[in-house]
Amino acid sequence: MYMNQEELWQSVLGQIEFEVSRANFATWFKHTSIHGIEDGIATIAVPNAFAKEWLEKKFHKNIIKSLRSTNPEIRNASYIVSSINSPAHTQAKKRPEPVENLDEQLEFKEFSVDRDTNLNPRYTFESFVIGTFNEFAHAAGLSITKNLGSVYNPLFIYGGVGLGKTHLLHAIGNQVKKDHPDFKVLYLTSERFVNELISVIQNREPLQNFKDKYRNVDLLIIDDVQFIAGKAKSEEEFFHTFNSLYERGKQIVFSSDKPPQAIQNIEERLRSRFEAGLNADISEPEYEARLAILKLKQGSKEPVIAGEVLEYIAFTIQKNIRELEGALNIILAKSKLKGRPLTLEEAKIALEQLTKTTKRIATPSQIINAVAQYYDLGEGGLFERSRRREVVRPRQIAMYLLREDFHGSYPFIGQKLGGRDHTTALHAYEKISNELKKDSKLVEEIKQIRGKMYES
Ligand code: ADP
Ligand code: MG
Repeated sequence: MYMNQEELWQSVLGQIEFEVSRANFATWFKHTSIHGIEDGIATIAVPNAFAKEWLEKKFHKNIIKSLRSTNPEIRNASYIVSSINSPAHTQAKKRPEPVENLDEQLEFKEFSVDRDTNLNPRYTFESFVIGTFNEFAHAAGLSITKNLGSVYNPLFIYGGVGLGKTHLLHAIGNQVKKDHPDFKVLYLTSERFVNELISVIQNREPLQNFKDKYRNVDLLIIDDVQFIAGKAKSEEEFFHTFNSLYERGKQIVFSSDKPPQAIQNIEERLRSRFEAGLNADISEPEYEARLAILKLKQGSKEPVIAGEVLEYIAFTIQKNIRELEGALNIILAKSKLKGRPLTLEEAKIALEQLTKTTKRIATPSQIINAVAQYYDLGEGGLFERSRRREVVRPRQIAMYLLREDFHGSYPFIGQKLGGRDHTTALHAYEKISNELKKDSKLVEEIKQIRGKMYES
């Protein structure tokens, strides 16, 4: 499948995310983009000199490997510092001079993770927006910071991807550290816990050091605890760590992508420990909360984003706060390039790529019914052997949607819509794709058709 450079880089990031730790990923790969590919060399734009050095020294191999697996024509990678990282608009030819911007480095330092606690200072209660979707989890989190180890122990927070679990966990840790600088706080993912344990065993190091490290804390925060399931030795060690802390009145906080009852392959005694404390869920944010989050993240950043654009983002991106931020960053980057705020139309176009990836899969009959209904054609209408524009156009749109939302092959699509050739389907797909870049009325029409498709 054809991939533009932006998509290529997103795919590379997707692979690297699995290979490096979460903290490393957030610290070094955020705000990177692909600047261009020339003669088999991919140029990666990074936000500051720090990041450049790290990518060159530590992650070059990962990057090359993923780049090649995504596009075999790429042989090597180089890195440049660029304050504007929008791949679509920078030309590979005119490379920006590397700038070593002190402000950026300072900002970067401030955001780096604390070595003792693994806490990210950016994730605080102050920067955490509360809505009905998360107010219970928020209240529970805040209250344990005031009554450490005594009220809700353990606190178990669960919810889907990108909804703020990690943010809330760090906020709890940061708050406790702020109120009690002498307390020992430790944040880690369950994956890291498992990996450390494995490495202790492999290197035949004394298990006692490992045990001590986790048992001498006042607050232990374990993120994404579902990953521990099915790893017997780790579960056991984890269970003992948990008991030891619990018995001494030390606070434990867990997060997971599902409630304890729904975690499969986990030891019963561990599950019942999770359930015994307070379980609080985070669900999907409502529109008002999404808008509030966007306003908070936009903060005093320049250039200012128009209110209607923020509303559009909040309206369109519904499920995931991480994607909400991603959309905001795209808009910021594009307006920086233009040197002025984007209009609503421009914003819609800029976000087209993103809104595409958040959509669901529809069946062919859902698509065909929705299109026929929307254009008032009656079901047979789309299959009619006619060149009338009133029929041709909806048929092209149906073909486009069969490709986009059902991922049908062109021969299949041609066949489905009245036994046409695969080139007709391909042509229709390309035509509509191109028009969508310019025609906001069409964008709106397709949005409404999708609304019908997915309404049930
Ligand atoms: P999860 O761990 O549930 O996958 P994260 O905590 O990593 O999600 O959140 C994803 C992004 O969304 C982070 O950048 C985080 O700061 C932001 N975010 C999540 N919830 C909120 C919130 N309530 N207020 C502000 N930002 C939030
Ligand atoms: Mg998380």
